[in-house]
Amino acid sequence: MPAGKSRKPAPKKKRTGWRALFGGPSFFGNLITTILVFLFLMSAYSLIASFFQPTNDTPLSAVAADVAAGKISAITVNGDSLNLVYADQSTKISRKDPSSGLPETLATYGVTPAELAKVAITIQGQSGFQFWFATLAPIIIPLLFIGFIFWFLSRQVRGAGMQAFTFGQSKARIIDPADSSQRVTFKDVAGAREAKDELLEIVDFLKSPKKFLDIGARIPKGIILMGAPGTGKTLLARAVAGEAGVPFFSISGSEFVEMFVGVGASRVRDLFQMAKKAAPAIIFVDELDAVGRIRGTGVGGGNDEREQTLNQILVEMDGFEPTEKVVVMAATNRPDVLDLALLRPGRFDRRVTIDLPDRRDREEILQIHARQKPLGPDVKLAVIAERTPGFSGAELYSLMNEGAILAARENRKELTQYDLIRSIEKVMLGPERKSHLLSKKEKELTAYHEAGHALVSSVLENADPVHKISIISRGRAAGYTLKLPFEDKKMQSRKQFLDDIAATLGGYVAEEMLFGDVSTGPSNDLSVITAIARDMVVRYGMSEKLGPIAFGERQLGNEPYSEQVAAKIDAEVTRIIEEAKARATIVINERREALDAIAKELIEKETIERAEFEKILIANGITPKKREESESVVV
Ligand code: ADP
Ligand code: ZN
Ligand code: MG
Repeated sequence: MPAGKSRKPAPKKKRTGWRALFGGPSFFGNLITTILVFLFLMSAYSLIASFFQPTNDTPLSAVAADVAAGKISAITVNGDSLNLVYADQSTKISRKDPSSGLPETLATYGVTPAELAKVAITIQGQSGFQFWFATLAPIIIPLLFIGFIFWFLSRQVRGAGMQAFTFGQSKARIIDPADSSQRVTFKDVAGAREAKDELLEIVDFLKSPKKFLDIGARIPKGIILMGAPGTGKTLLARAVAGEAGVPFFSISGSEFVEMFVGVGASRVRDLFQMAKKAAPAIIFVDELDAVGRIRGTGVGGGNDEREQTLNQILVEMDGFEPTEKVVVMAATNRPDVLDLALLRPGRFDRRVTIDLPDRRDREEILQIHARQKPLGPDVKLAVIAERTPGFSGAELYSLMNEGAILAARENRKELTQYDLIRSIEKVMLGPERKSHLLSKKEKELTAYHEAGHALVSSVLENADPVHKISIISRGRAAGYTLKLPFEDKKMQSRKQFLDDIAATLGGYVAEEMLFGDVSTGPSNDLSVITAIARDMVVRYGMSEKLGPIAFGERQLGNEPYSEQVAAKIDAEVTRIIEEAKARATIVINERREALDAIAKELIEKETIERAEFEKILIANGITPKKREESESVVV
């Protein structure tokens, strides 16, 4: 029921504690780890050394007594350790004070020279080398070790084109054009043809800047890549660097958000300085919206650090000489919240939009990611592409990967079509949770809920036809209904939206009608439809009451419409949802036998595929819709 296709961005890693303090794990992190490892080794060494030390030394007083009694025939002195050989050939060990000789030591215990003369004393001196080694090794070895670590770290840093020990400076990740393992080119980016065309110009410029500068051409300093998460913005930016063969300096806007005031700005300064030294080069600011939000609207005082960082970016971009061979690229999935100052001419004035891939692009992306994977003879990537509308490049990538994992887990050498089909659902909804057992009541509730979605979808004219229903829970969803839209939807009409909302409410209505109660199950359904209804009113001008006006986002300090309009919007959203609910209720009331039949089948079989589902529909006097080969989901 809940969750499903909600695509929340993964929670960003927070930089807290010492990491924030030292600017990340790189240099200081390594240093601290090294020191800890070193301390550990030291204590381990002394532990082991003490372990090997003989603990049952004979006390010197006993040695002296034995010498006086004539029981000892020979003593070998080695440094401060004593090897005692008794008259009966037994041996013992002991130790003396290293600063005084054996005779003096024994004399202090009252051994007379005559008694001592009866003992054969051999002094085994350590060789000069042994002595020096034993004395100096504990000092020199750690020094060598630390020296090695410094050498190693500085090599890493220098490899990145920086001077050694510039810690605390820009934390940019740098991709060296000479590093072929990291090199990405346009060949690795499927689809996005318009974006690539636009960016070719930049590639040309970075390859031979002189040609452009000689003729007085001004190349755009800043290019913003805009597009949904996972559409390959980062990939494309790297590909530009790869095509042009220039170094790629990248940094993410979200990294600045939790830093101390001033650090972000100085990082930006360092980053630009480094890039200018390495020019021609690309600077890539990922997640620009994290620093580039409209200033002065921050609720609760705003974020000084963010503003300073943003200002520094603007200052740096303005300070570019026209001959500078550095191009700044940035990526965002929220172009609507960007500060207008960023979009002014001379800054990020070139905008490149990357759309979600269409069917052909999806097939190409799948092909790219299938390169290193052996595909079985039955694999038809075109079919997978048809069934994955709305998938981003990143999701297609993980689909291929899940398929390979499935094949590997079953010890197969090739991926099959079935692996990929199963992976579609896994990527959409998370893994199946067969172990998640529903109680009899829950199972019934889930079955009726999904049957509600499926039935309303099948009856309403503009809703998408149903492809599969299941009450096997996946991810956070207790059950799910897969639907197949007629084509890749680039545009949706008002009628489609309204029928979608009604179908999504079908689950809620069925639960309420049958059990006289609603569960927490449909909470995700409700947030989905509320968002759709709101967008209809606010963004698409689909409400007759408010007319064809697109209202901006309402925030504190940025109020594009009045309180009265806000109240009207809320009323319209409520009305849309109420009407959709009423329509879903009518469908479910009128087709009660169909609902029961679907739910019964679900309780029994847990999953119903399209063919079986359509049989149930026909048996209950509903004509199944004709469908095309692509898929969307309601959970
Ligand atoms: P974004 O930066 O837009 O969120 P990424 O560039 O990080 O997306 O994309 C994540 C991954 O998805 C890429 O590393 C790549 O494997 C895959 N991917 C995305 N778009 C494409 C594409 N057009 N062609 C090939 N692979 C893609
Ligand atoms: Zn639902
Ligand atoms: Mg990215």
